[in-house]
Amino acid sequence: MREILLAKLGEVVLKGLNRRGFEDVLLANIRRRVAAFGPFDVREAQSTVYVTPKEGADLDAAGERIAKVFGIATFSRACELPKDLGAICAGAAEYLNRELSAAGTFKVECRRSDKKFPYRSPEICARVGGYLQEKFPRLRVDVEHPGFTVRVEVRDFAAYVHGSARRGAGGIPVGTGGKAAVLISGGIDSPVAAWMMARRGVELTAVHFASPPYTSERAEQKAADLLRRVGEYAGRMTMFTVPFAKVQEEILARCPEEFFTVIMRRFMMRAAERIAVGQGCGALVTGESLGQVASQTLQAIACTDAAARMPVFRPLIGMDKVDIIALARRIGTYDLSILPYEDCCTVFTPRHPRTRPALEAVLRAEEPLDAEALLADCAARVKTTKIEPNR
Ligand code: ATP
Ligand code: MG
Repeated sequence: MREILLAKLGEVVLKGLNRRGFEDVLLANIRRRVAAFGPFDVREAQSTVYVTPKEGADLDAAGERIAKVFGIATFSRACELPKDLGAICAGAAEYLNRELSAAGTFKVECRRSDKKFPYRSPEICARVGGYLQEKFPRLRVDVEHPGFTVRVEVRDFAAYVHGSARRGAGGIPVGTGGKAAVLISGGIDSPVAAWMMARRGVELTAVHFASPPYTSERAEQKAADLLRRVGEYAGRMTMFTVPFAKVQEEILARCPEEFFTVIMRRFMMRAAERIAVGQGCGALVTGESLGQVASQTLQAIACTDAAARMPVFRPLIGMDKVDIIALARRIGTYDLSILPYEDCCTVFTPRHPRTRPALEAVLRAEEPLDAEALLADCAARVKTTKIEPNR
């Protein structure tokens, strides 16, 4: 009995004329992700992607991968059967034997997209249901609250039988939404922000600010490790590491302490924007959330924003920390994020940061700095790392 993966398209189906383009990107993404697990045939028909293993392919591993491909609403393992009612009945009993033996109640759902198949859906349900009840005499039908649902799909080339479907990653395919540069720290928030943007189809580039000798090699490593996890969903990307200690030392030496953080963040925006422009990105992304810390008040964010010309997306802006943590756990970044390595933001934290800075005051405070020279120095010493997602 041949098993395949059936993946149902998510929001892609809402795309009108662009739909073809979205589907092509999705299929290419799926092909690239499952290729590590052997040869697969991947094609699409009637809002469903068929992932069919060939000789030697690992379907379990492919299923785990598919769960992390944006653009898929739900997916399931299914067995492929000839389009013959007898074969469907016998195949369902054999393929779902374990589930049906354990269930108390069940029902059969059917979709017939091949309208030439001689039986209509209600009839298929009744026939398959009757057959299964005979085979599993303990089973009772319960159409309202079934303990287990048998799903039969009669499609163009074959019939498919499967049990429950798994929830997919949702969103739209990475590569259909342009490109953005995410400012990635080693914290909890920025990896979640990166994931949220990738889920909206955005291809990512990453910018990390490191402050050796104040921060260690391990801190930078941590950012790269986090990106590898995000990359399981977002695909491969490049991380640009910007040495930032000199900028921080200059701010510390020449600007009032209460403005340190907001000025530093403005420099982060400027340095990141230059990299973003060079990489063809249309936006910056940060993990800021309103009111979370002194630099994330409405006024502080306004001052940070004013340093960039590009739109700055902050997908976590309205989220509570507990919700961000729940999402971090779900996407698998949380345990890494809480490892204790210092971040460049924490090495020179002022004791009394200005929580409601006015832009004119910040601009005045910034005046003693030679911004152009500092940014040029950052640009000259940027290091790039290729991030290959974890398998
Ligand atoms: P996170 O958990 O993402 O570190 P945070 O709550 O600690 O966020 P901040 O330290 O104020 O908040 O940083 C706000 C945002 O600025 C981060 O979400 C990230 O996008 C960016 N950022 C902070 N530190 C760095 C860094 N070292 N390199 C790149 N971006 C950074
Ligand atoms: Mg942080």
